[in-house]
Amino acid sequence: MPIFTTLFLALLAATVIIRLWLATRHIAHVQAHRHQVPAAFAAAISLDAHQKAADYSVSKTRLAIIEGIVQAVLLLALTVGGVLQWLDASWHNTLPDSEFHRGVLVILSAFVISSLVDIPLDYYKAFVVDQRFGFNKMTHGMFVSDLLKHTLVGLALGTPLLFAALWLMQGAGSAWWLYLWVVWSAFNLLMLAVYPTFIAPLFNKFQPLTDEALKTRIETLLTKCGFKSQGLFVMDGSSRSSHGNAYFTGFGSSKRVVFFDTLLERLDADEIEAVLAHELGHFRHHHVIKRIALMFAASFAGLALLGWLVGQTWFYNGLGVATPSNHMALLLFLLVSPVFTFFLRPLLSGYARKNEFEADAYAATHSSAKHLEVALVKLYRDNASTLTPDPLHSAFYDSHPPASIRIARLETA
Ligand SMILES: [Zn+2]
Repeated sequence: MPIFTTLFLALLAATVIIRLWLATRHIAHVQAHRHQVPAAFAAAISLDAHQKAADYSVSKTRLAIIEGIVQAVLLLALTVGGVLQWLDASWHNTLPDSEFHRGVLVILSAFVISSLVDIPLDYYKAFVVDQRFGFNKMTHGMFVSDLLKHTLVGLALGTPLLFAALWLMQGAGSAWWLYLWVVWSAFNLLMLAVYPTFIAPLFNKFQPLTDEALKTRIETLLTKCGFKSQGLFVMDGSSRSSHGNAYFTGFGSSKRVVFFDTLLERLDADEIEAVLAHELGHFRHHHVIKRIALMFAASFAGLALLGWLVGQTWFYNGLGVATPSNHMALLLFLLVSPVFTFFLRPLLSGYARKNEFEADAYAATHSSAKHLEVALVKLYRDNASTLTPDPLHSAFYDSHPPASIRIARLETA
């Protein structure tokens, strides 16, 4: 077996084993703490709600185990299992003369295959897991129309990008990866600018906030914190799920504040203000810009690596592809890089949690720690988020600190 195949298989096996181990630990930990509400939450959360959160977490984690295994099997089938090689050969028979168009078709076919594998898992999450816990508000019709819309938007945005990538790889000389990095970065900035105004409304309805008292209050907070926004909106999150949320989106002049209708229903004005102050904290600490900068740096390194890998025969052969080509290099790279970056996950999660603490501290200063605390406890309760995650599982994956640690910090703020 080629050395690179051995390395790939060993790393893939390691990621699957670690995922399974963390998931099993998490399930055991949540179940062991199912019988008692942690003392800090005993006044606000009933035993019933706590047990519902435990059962919901366990169900979601079991689904994640299945997902992890399915994705690993799919990746094996595509690469060393020869499916990509077969796809490439099949399109070669249909289109023998144009490597460029064949490349586009091979990559699109591979994405169609992965999406087809994801559909049953998404369906199960919404209509079995969320349904059982009363969170799913989607109908089958909506599921299908969302799927079609996502596919069309994905094709409309992804296909030109794919054409640009293959065209640069083919004709832009040895620095193609640098040009592609510029195109990719520009594309991402454009997406950030147009997403709130053009893409999000395809999936949800956004209405201006009409509650005048709340509006005045939020505008006062925005002014006090030195923010301008292009309006306050309410999103019909309740049409798909009863999970509540709020976000501050866009950048430059397209910034807008969006509240899920489900959040406005459950929190009072004090608590809504505190949640928004937390979101503003992310902006004030430049978390969004830093995340974008990190993404640009990562894609720069990734594309530079791909610029080198495209000329290495062992990269293709080690992953089950006999004939090197630009499109295969790109596709293999997109498919297998998550296996090689899996071990960076705890670092990124830790960084995200650090940002959450900073945003909480900002909210405590500019609004109220007490109100944020009450709001968070309500959200944990209503979203059935577990209060007792396994510490290692949480450290590895969670972008938000565990409830108990987060609340404890706010108490001392
Ligand atoms: Zn946050």
